[in-house]
Amino acid sequence: MDARTNPDEIARTNPDSSPGTTALAKPRKIVLVGIDGLRIDDALTGVHAPVLSAFARAGQLLPLEMEVPTISGPGWSSILTGAPHSVHGVFDNTFHGHRLDATTDFLARASHAGHSTLAAVSWPPLADPASAGPILTTRLDDQRAGRHRLVVRDGETYGYRMADGDIAAFTRLAIRDAGPDASFVYLGEVDEAGHLYGGVSPEYDAAVARVDTHLGTILDAVARRVSTHDEDWLVGVTTDHGHLDEGGHGGADPVLTRSFLALGRYGSGVPFDVDSAIRIQPTDISRILLSHLG
Ligand SMILES: [Zn+2]
Repeated sequence: MDARTNPDEIARTNPDSSPGTTALAKPRKIVLVGIDGLRIDDALTGVHAPVLSAFARAGQLLPLEMEVPTISGPGWSSILTGAPHSVHGVFDNTFHGHRLDATTDFLARASHAGHSTLAAVSWPPLADPASAGPILTTRLDDQRAGRHRLVVRDGETYGYRMADGDIAAFTRLAIRDAGPDASFVYLGEVDEAGHLYGGVSPEYDAAVARVDTHLGTILDAVARRVSTHDEDWLVGVTTDHGHLDEGGHGGADPVLTRSFLALGRYGSGVPFDVDSAIRIQPTDISRILLSHLG
């Protein structure tokens, strides 16, 4: 049954509607944007991430601390599956001995609930079925049925600048034309620049600025989608770790463990509000996003 014509569904998915109102529930959508290796404090106090800074100011910014080792494989596994390192068994980027089979990523959870999904990533282990991992379930049947769209670019081999540009462009089109119910979008150039030049280098700042522009492209696509469709979108932005001044990560230095979840809601008129008195964990991110889908 169409959720728009089912009063029970409306009551369940639209807690903002009060008795006596005739407002119908809008279709709800979620997007999680992952920016690898972002020093969040620098990004929010500096001049290189104006889009992210404005997004965090307009919505909600929840600080969180990543589990050690602060490496991409374990970090994104925790963020995307909601399981801690001890459960998913990913402790490095080889994924050796992982137990991802015992977890369910948040896109698969959304799919199980009947939602369409998109994964657009420039680091193959996140989603490429031919890579180590992958963290996100491939779900070939869903892809063939048009319920899951997968776009992978190999930034590790061919460089992240172009790979991230492709990912942002694909995401813009997908949001405009299809409006998938649940999406994960990953951008990797900031981490690459941190490794090559260090976390306080002009090259790192330039990468932050380019990725911030990609974030702007994605947020513009959501805003346009909301203006052309009567939908209620929740966008989240996060990172898996920071970078040392000289470049590199993996340890427990606060500049490495410090992360965040920035949330912004589009098309509702009511802010998405997480109780900021509760300190969230990386493993809470997918649950918080999914709660918007109802
Ligand atoms: Zn990383």
